[in-house]
Amino acid sequence: MSRITIAIDGFSSTGKSTIAKQLAKHLGYVYVDSGAMYRAVTYFAMQHGFISNNHFDLNGLISKLNDVNISFKFNETLGFAEVYLNGINIEKEIRTLEVSGYVSRVAAVPQVRTQMVRQQKKLGAQKGVVMDGRDIGTVVFPNAELKLFMTASAKTRALRRYNELLERGDAVSYEAVLKNVEERDFIDSNRKDSPLVKAVDAIEIDNSNLSIEEQFDKILSLYNEVVSNNSL
Ligand code: C5P
Repeated sequence: MSRITIAIDGFSSTGKSTIAKQLAKHLGYVYVDSGAMYRAVTYFAMQHGFISNNHFDLNGLISKLNDVNISFKFNETLGFAEVYLNGINIEKEIRTLEVSGYVSRVAAVPQVRTQMVRQQKKLGAQKGVVMDGRDIGTVVFPNAELKLFMTASAKTRALRRYNELLERGDAVSYEAVLKNVEERDFIDSNRKDSPLVKAVDAIEIDNSNLSIEEQFDKILSLYNEVVSNNSL
């Protein structure tokens, strides 16, 4: 059966990575979390003092972008690839509300995007890839055979992210998480370079009222349709 490219875009915390991981596992595809790459650059900027107390030294970060080496390594136990920054596993460090608070500003920097998109294209060059993010179907893989655009109400999304953070043991308030989700959506949708928009040929999935299983079944049948049309 032919291997295709699956691009999943959408607002923050719409369950993109959940469905992407499920699909990759079921199909034997590679899953790439492109948001983790922007989070890794943000973490790098924080570590090197380019971001502190709401100050963002944009030129400082740009001058050191060549020192940012991002890679993914499959974790057998977790069943997905974890992100590494210059050889160090930073999967846990990049999921904090602090990183979330800055990541959209870092991701709006054209030089950062150019570098990340170049790597993302390479990671998907062999097809058989599921990548999730904000510009995957529009910029990274405009020719992807299956494009999904995920949505859900801001409150549903914030509640999901809040529960995730609580489970990890982070002391956060629901209000702070909701504010972060809304802020990121605003910046992501309004930035000049590759804003978050639904690709014209993307299929919109509103999962506010779908269980994880219902969503998986629905998307798997979309995948099967695409693959059978492709092999005609
Ligand atoms: O997917 P996740 O929420 O982890 O992404 C973190 C942030 O990275 C997003 O809010 C967005 O600002 C940025 N991002 C992006 N383009 C992508 C993936 C993520 O701008 N393809």
